[in-house]
Amino acid sequence: MTTSLEELKRRAAECIEASSERLGELSREIWSRPELAYEERQAHGAMTRFFTSCPSPPEEEVWLVQRSYKLETAFRADWQWDGYAAEAGQRKKPPPPLLRLGFLCEYDALPGIGHACGHNLIAEVGAAAALGLKGALESLRRSGPAAGLLRQVPAVKISVLGTPAEEGGAGKAVLIKSDAFNNLDVVFMAHPFQEDLSYMPAMANNHLTVQYYGKASHAAAYLWEGVNALDAAVLAYNNLSVLRQQIKPTWRLHGIIKRGGEKPNVIPSCTELEFYLRTPLLKELPILKEKAESCFRAAALATGCKVEFKRKYSDYYNVLRNECLEQTFTENGKKLGMHFSDKDILSGSSGSTDFGNVSYVVPGIHPYFYIGSEALNHTEEFTRAAGSDAAQKYALHTAKALAMTALDVIFRPGLLEQVQEDFRRAKSMSPEV
Ligand SMILES: [Zn+2]
Ligand SMILES: [Zn+2]
Repeated sequence: MTTSLEELKRRAAECIEASSERLGELSREIWSRPELAYEERQAHGAMTRFFTSCPSPPEEEVWLVQRSYKLETAFRADWQWDGYAAEAGQRKKPPPPLLRLGFLCEYDALPGIGHACGHNLIAEVGAAAALGLKGALESLRRSGPAAGLLRQVPAVKISVLGTPAEEGGAGKAVLIKSDAFNNLDVVFMAHPFQEDLSYMPAMANNHLTVQYYGKASHAAAYLWEGVNALDAAVLAYNNLSVLRQQIKPTWRLHGIIKRGGEKPNVIPSCTELEFYLRTPLLKELPILKEKAESCFRAAALATGCKVEFKRKYSDYYNVLRNECLEQTFTENGKKLGMHFSDKDILSGSSGSTDFGNVSYVVPGIHPYFYIGSEALNHTEEFTRAAGSDAAQKYALHTAKALAMTALDVIFRPGLLEQVQEDFRRAKSMSPEV
C-alpha cells in the first residue's frame, strides 16, 4: 500500500466532512450570540470546548488547549507529531526542523448587526482546516513509514489560535506584541465574502481619536466667555474634507464627530472625533497622518481650543501577498469546485484587517470565500447569509482547501522555501516604518 500526497489530501477532506455536524453547530453557536471585540466570552467558551472535546482515535493525542491565551478571549490549541524518517524504518527523534503551522480563528461581531462580517465562519473554517490536517497526519502515523511514497515526514506542530477583536481592536497586533506568533512558520485563515479570491488588498489603517477642550459658557448670555470645542470639531471635519481632494486616489480618510456637546445653550467645552486614515502601504501612512494632524491642529489654533490625540489601538498593517501560497490554495480550491474570480482584484476597493500585522511577522494566507449569497459584508443580509445552512458547504470547501495547502507546504519539496522567499521579498518591498 502506498500513501501519496493526493491520498493524504483526500483523507483531510474526509476528516472535515466527518466532523461537519459539529463544525456547523460551532459556527451557529457563535453566530447566534454575537459579541463585540474583546468581549467574546461565549465564543471563547464554544471554541475551547470544541477542541477539548474533539474525539480522537485510540492512542492519538488530544489537543492541548490553553484558555485565555495572552488575552482573556484568546485561546490556543496545539497538537504535535514528531514525524518519522522512513530510511530507518522506525519512528525516531524528530527530524529537524519542526514545522509549525498556525490556523487563525476570529469570532467577534459588529455592534447592532451581529455577525455581519461572518467571523463565525472564520472560526469554523480555521477549526475545520486544523482538524483535517491533524486527521491526515494521524492516518499517516497509523499506516507507518512502510506506507510508501511519503518516506520522510517532518515533525509538525499544528496550532489553532483564537484571535479576538478584529473589528477595531487590533487583537492580532496585541497577540504579536505578546509573542503569540513567535513560534509559527506559516499561518492560514480565510474570510467570508461575495466571491472566492485567493487575495484581496487590505490597507494600512490608523485609528485616530481626537479630543478638543474649550471653555463652557452660556451660549446666549455670555458667549464671548466661551471657547467653542464644537467649532473646533466642525472646522477639523471641514479641513479633512478639503484635504481629501489632494490625497492619492488610493488613500482614504473618513470619520465621525462622536461627541458634539451636551445642550444648545451651553457652549461645548469638550468634543471628540474618530477618524480612520488608510493607505495601501504601511510606509505611506505617516505621510497621511502628518497631513491629517495638521488639519486637527489648525482647527485648535483657530478656535483657541486645546487638542489631544489619542491612540487606543495599534495601526493595522496592509496585507503582504504570498503568491506561492495563493497559487497553491487556488489549485486546491479549484479541484474542490471553488470559483476564483479573474477580475482585477488589485484595483478593487477594500478595508483593513489585523491579519496585515501578522503578514509582516510570519508568511501566511488570508483568502476570501463565497458563502452562497451576493450580500455585502457589514449588512444585515450578510449576517443572515453567514448563519445560513447554505454557507456551510462553502465554508467546508474552503477549510479543505486550506488543509490541503498546509499538506502541500509539509510535503511538496521546495514549497516551504518558496513561501519563505515570497515573504522576504514582499516585506522588503513594503518596509515597516
Ligand atoms: Zn468586517
Ligand atoms: Zn471581517
